[in-house]
Amino acid sequence: MERTTVGSPAARVHNLSKTYGAGTGAVLALDDVGLAIRRGEFTAIVGPSGSGKSTLMHVMAGLDSATRGRAWIGDTEITRLSDRELTLLRRRRVGFVFQSFNLVPTLDALGNILLPFQLDGRRPNAAESARIEVLVDTLGIRTRLRHRPHELSGGQQQRVAIARALATAPDLVFADEPTGSLDSRSGQEVLALLRSACRDHGQSIAMVTHDPIAASHADRVVFLGDGRVVADEPRLSARDLAERMLAGARLSEREASA
Ligand code: ADP
Repeated sequence: MERTTVGSPAARVHNLSKTYGAGTGAVLALDDVGLAIRRGEFTAIVGPSGSGKSTLMHVMAGLDSATRGRAWIGDTEITRLSDRELTLLRRRRVGFVFQSFNLVPTLDALGNILLPFQLDGRRPNAAESARIEVLVDTLGIRTRLRHRPHELSGGQQQRVAIARALATAPDLVFADEPTGSLDSRSGQEVLALLRSACRDHGQSIAMVTHDPIAASHADRVVFLGDGRVVADEPRLSARDLAERMLAGARLSEREASA
């Protein structure tokens, strides 16, 4: 596996297109996207429903293939890797927080948090154990560690998924609507935790969201519309974001009915 050059982006895509289906039913979900996720930054990817946010995240993370174009994680071109190489790269370098949590139902919360280490055939070292302790307390799940996912609320499951994503201190974290199932106070705590992962630990985070408050915590906001990057802005207030996102949604409604 290639080493990562200091200063190179944490992830990037070039001329990326993705089509679902074929023939008259084909949907162009991503249309020639170019984007770099800068190291140590908290990047929000926003846009109306159907604009391609989840597809972009999945292709950038190597969970889905591109139809055209190239994608890199660090200096490694993931669009050239075999499935096995891709699995290893993801396991070692990338953390995921999915909307649907993706917790293993037969493992308790602690088992789920430790899963990335188990899959890598090792136990957490002292620094990692200390980090897990901090995450468990910050996320308020200490009393739930022996519970299985079905015994936890949606918000608690999401916190376990976040602890799991950050436990190995991966270079790069992809988060799909990480605050979607949380009440506003827990949501704020999770966003603060993601910010501190960037600021204090130099991790890079790409977060897909349609929530202007969540996106206002990011250092940078990338707007998608109809599978293309339509704007790329430094930090914006929740009010500015809400206006921009509403305008984007109206525009795509008009285009859809045209
Ligand atoms: P967003 O995350 O912004 O809501 P998506 O990336 O989920 O957008 O979807 C982008 C477009 O691709 C939409 O038109 C959606 O219907 C379509 N799409 C997404 N996933 C699939 C799939 N598995 N099969 C067919 N079409 C899909």
